[in-house]
Amino acid sequence: MKWQGRSGSRNVSDRRTSGGMAVGGVGLVVLLAYTLITGDPMALINGLLGSVGNNQPLTAEEQELADFVSVVLADTETVWTEVFESYGWTYEPATLVLYKNTTSSACGTASVQTGPFYCSEDQSIYLDLVFASTLRNQFEAPGDFAMAYVIAHEVGHHVQYLTGILDDYYEARAQLSTTQANALTVRLELQADYLAGVWAHHVAGMGYLEPGDLEEALTAAAAVGDDTIQMQSSGRVIPETFTHGTAEQRSSWFLKGYNEGDLDQWDTFSISNP
Ligand SMILES: [Zn+2]
Repeated sequence: MKWQGRSGSRNVSDRRTSGGMAVGGVGLVVLLAYTLITGDPMALINGLLGSVGNNQPLTAEEQELADFVSVVLADTETVWTEVFESYGWTYEPATLVLYKNTTSSACGTASVQTGPFYCSEDQSIYLDLVFASTLRNQFEAPGDFAMAYVIAHEVGHHVQYLTGILDDYYEARAQLSTTQANALTVRLELQADYLAGVWAHHVAGMGYLEPGDLEEALTAAAAVGDDTIQMQSSGRVIPETFTHGTAEQRSSWFLKGYNEGDLDQWDTFSISNP
């Protein structure tokens, strides 16, 4: 994707170093108290060095990845503002929270276990940039547009929130058995993949797509398919437990959105078999 030198979004909230500073601050107070009690200055010096270690500066690679994510988010804002306008709606941007290791959200703790997610309670996407290497190494989905797809998918959930679909989903799910609820969740997730495809359609239209980008997104969509993940982790596939759809479903809904470029074919809920 052509992103270098382009402006990013104002809606990135970077928490990657503030967590370390908070720990360092608390640690320093404890150490000062300890030094006052014991009179051991080495404890204070070692403690200071330790608290510096909690707040390591970001590497050039981490900063570049953050810049990339910010441009992708800005492109989602441009595209969704336009698409919403074409339907007579108003787009309100989501916040993208960058964090390292763990952070709190209005939907609970974000961590490596949760992976990237969208929280409608605070209209924020939570992303630990370590997921870029998880995609590349564990999911074998390399390339910048693989990561762009992940962000666009989460923004897709925000689009579902703004259009009332997410609330309808939560309401409907409460009445369902676990298996039925999973099937409904698959439809929600496939729609988010379609929305990521709609976004990519417009990115291509703006001239920012590079050769191979579309394939990178399709590879990533297939790599995070429930069947792919279940085969890798346990060697067998249990369709009733699917919550995101198969590799085939995920990549084809992304492609459908990419080909359509609008919301006219986005209904994954009322068709018989998505
Ligand atoms: Zn999702």
